[in-house]
Amino acid sequence: MIRLPLLSTVIKNLFKKPATNPFPKTEPVPVPENFRGKIVYNVDKCVGCRMCVTVCPAGVFVYLPEIRKVALWTGRCVFCKQCVDVCPTGALQMSDEFLLASYDKYDSKFIYVTPEEAEEIKKKQEELKKAKAQAKAKKSQ
Ligand code: SF4
Ligand code: SF4
Repeated sequence: MIRLPLLSTVIKNLFKKPATNPFPKTEPVPVPENFRGKIVYNVDKCVGCRMCVTVCPAGVFVYLPEIRKVALWTGRCVFCKQCVDVCPTGALQMSDEFLLASYDKYDSKFIYVTPEEAEEIKKKQEELKKAKAQAKAKKSQ
């Protein structure tokens, strides 16, 4: 005699709703708290301590000595969160963003602080330095 132990389960399930999320027709499944998504870098908060460069296992960071900031190519990131934990100023955070597919591995969405942006930061820092020196000179007059 042929045994079909799963037959009743199969028939029952034929009349149930599919237990799938038909993304992209719907929103993706919500991420949990403390989800490790794409790294976010706040260049203004960065003090150039280089701790992130030291701990990152994937070589995401390049230190920019002229401006005491870091440049990131997050295309290499393995989402380990070590840089976020070690950063003393909170300049690095993990976002909820996980839809990161791209045709271009050097897509601008993966890069923080391009050479042009570094140049702008340098100019701003020099202007600030000048303004501070002038204010100091005025005070001592
Ligand atoms: S999360 Fe990990 S791999 Fe990604 S940038 Fe930070 S330290 Fe590097
Ligand atoms: S650890 Fe934070 S403050 Fe230090 S260089 Fe990296 S981003 Fe900047």
